[in-house]
Amino acid sequence: MQALTFKRGVHPPDGKALSCDKAIEVVAPKEDSELFYPMSQHIGAPCAPIVAVGDHVKVGQKIADSSAFLCCPIFASVSGEVVAIRPMLVPGGAMVNSIVVKNDGKMEEIEGLNVGRDYEAMSNQEILDAIKGAGVVGLGGAGFPTHVKLNPPKDTPIDHILINAAECEPYLTCDYRLMLEESDRIVKGLQIMLKLHPDAKGVIGIEMNKPLAIEAMTKACEGIDNIYVQPLVTKFPQGSEKHLIVAITGREVKSGALPASAGCIVDNVDTVLAVERAIVKGRPLMRRVVTISGKGIKNPGNYKIRLGMTLRDLVDAVGGFNEEELAPVKLIAGGPMMGPTLYTLDVASVKTTSGLLCFTKEEAYIPPEKNCIRCGKCVDHCPMGLMPFMLNACALRGDGEGFVAHHGLDCIECGSCSYECPAKRQLAQSIRATKKIEMGKKAAAAAAARAKAEAEAKAKADAEAAKN
Ligand code: SF4
Ligand code: SF4
Repeated sequence: MQALTFKRGVHPPDGKALSCDKAIEVVAPKEDSELFYPMSQHIGAPCAPIVAVGDHVKVGQKIADSSAFLCCPIFASVSGEVVAIRPMLVPGGAMVNSIVVKNDGKMEEIEGLNVGRDYEAMSNQEILDAIKGAGVVGLGGAGFPTHVKLNPPKDTPIDHILINAAECEPYLTCDYRLMLEESDRIVKGLQIMLKLHPDAKGVIGIEMNKPLAIEAMTKACEGIDNIYVQPLVTKFPQGSEKHLIVAITGREVKSGALPASAGCIVDNVDTVLAVERAIVKGRPLMRRVVTISGKGIKNPGNYKIRLGMTLRDLVDAVGGFNEEELAPVKLIAGGPMMGPTLYTLDVASVKTTSGLLCFTKEEAYIPPEKNCIRCGKCVDHCPMGLMPFMLNACALRGDGEGFVAHHGLDCIECGSCSYECPAKRQLAQSIRATKKIEMGKKAAAAAAARAKAEAEAKAKADAEAAKN
């Protein structure tokens, strides 16, 4: 089958050789270690704790929830005592209120865990409720609640469910290993999702640099009419939602619109597995697979972790850092193109933590920034068709209006422009920072407009009531 792709993009060295042949290993948190469960591990309103300091919790116990539309509950991944509820750093750099559980090492589970169900005998609403109830969110990085994604408005019929198995970020190999080791379960998860959209086909998009994964997933799909594997050109950011959709279906998702507007739902490999686990195995989202890699770590590999472990405990559990010339000087949560740099390892692992990269001086080296030479390479490679050098100029002079007028809010923060720039301008960094400021202004303006409309409606209703 011909490999498909999108326009522009970049070809960074993939760095996957360090961990791609390492089978997934289970990492257990140490007895007496503290696990941190941040209240915001998804897009949408944060959860509120439903346990208190001093409570004893068990594995699989719901410890935080919210009734907000865009929200998912959070579960304890160990048994032990709630010793604090306090802010904790998360990989994105924010301090988030978190429940702290001291692991008693007993791994006592709540009753009723591991009671799976036959999805074919379940109604669509029961499936959606079970996915929500298990706290499943997009594990590829966005953290969008999966039950909301799978239930778009009725006027947006879905004809494609795309499994994002591109794993285009260099170094990361966790999805790759899942495809080799859990291919049948991934297909089962996709079948559950397709039950909600019976007119859709399931497409598993895998880059050509993963031939063994293409083979394993193709075998797992044998005999299933509505699911197939689609090879993709190896190119970054092939796994971006919009670029996966255009590569596989040829459809564009308009600025500000969701994939459902193009008839598509996109979920990554581990998310589909979390759906399968929630329904077939009756287990909520408490664990995930993380790639720990880079030349600065002694044992690069793919590790199944208990969510809530700190990255420091995780590094210790897998053998620690290398030393001297190979000591890490840069730590990144996620992939090197889009992941945030960390200044400490005292950070909670959350549902969207896909990797920890420990780069040596050699791996982390970026030449000093120079003046723009107007070569246009950043424009040629921007997958969103933007003018990064212009956005960078707006960002540097604090010109928010110009930034928005040049479509800066459409930037997907992929870093392709910075990667290609021969002058090593910090394009993506400056664009990301300005986008954050402008998004904040936009949200504040929308909230003010909503408040004004509500006040006007109330004043009108009061006036009508006074007349009567
Ligand atoms: S401007 Fe944004 S979308 Fe375009 S290459 Fe740079 S980071 Fe990626
Ligand atoms: S790639 Fe770099 S040097 Fe070339 S136009 Fe863009 S910002 Fe300027």
